[in-house]
Amino acid sequence: MKIVAAEKILRANDQLAEENREKFNASGVTCVNVVGSPGAGKTTLLEGLLAAIGDRVRPAVIEGDIAGSYDAERIEALGVPVVQINTSGACHLDANMIAAAIEGVECGDVDMLFIENVGNLVCTAGYDLGEHVRIVVLSTSEGDDKAAKYPAIFRGSDALFITKMDLKPHVNFDTERIAADMKRLAPGAPVFQLAAVRGEGIPEAAEWLLGKRQAKK
Ligand code: MG
Ligand code: ZN
Repeated sequence: MKIVAAEKILRANDQLAEENREKFNASGVTCVNVVGSPGAGKTTLLEGLLAAIGDRVRPAVIEGDIAGSYDAERIEALGVPVVQINTSGACHLDANMIAAAIEGVECGDVDMLFIENVGNLVCTAGYDLGEHVRIVVLSTSEGDDKAAKYPAIFRGSDALFITKMDLKPHVNFDTERIAADMKRLAPGAPVFQLAAVRGEGIPEAAEWLLGKRQAKK
């Protein structure tokens, strides 16, 4: 029987992620990995952000899903170049999948590449994709205890985007609590409060994101 240690697999992933990052750096692409549970509002957030930054940067999107292309179709409808990855069962994206997805993409024509990861708060934390920025998305309806319960994904993120703030009056969600947990896990990472369906919070989040741009070569 052959047994392969997870640590070894992750080390191989880290190497591939570094190669992806070098490729992005070489053509001045800023790569943003968007993680969060299924239904957190990642695609709706992306739609809002793309509309807000589209006239200042040339965006592209990689959509990661176990099956289907619903989210990719929504992005395509905005006229933004999109690549769909179907993981056929895998519950996270890895650096190898991203390497395959960016093959054939003319990185020189892209300033900001968004990766919408598979909806998952657990193992997405362990896989560096070669991104420069990682955003964790949490909706108010998921509960304010998620950073305490799933610390790894919050610890490794550069910002927390709290979505569905318009639902807050109807759910028990303590913004102070999640912000305090985030501050403990990722000191310095900003916390944005958004209601993307109404466009609320999008301009501030978009400005922050534009400030994270890598130098264009
Ligand atoms: Mg989605
Ligand atoms: Zn997984």
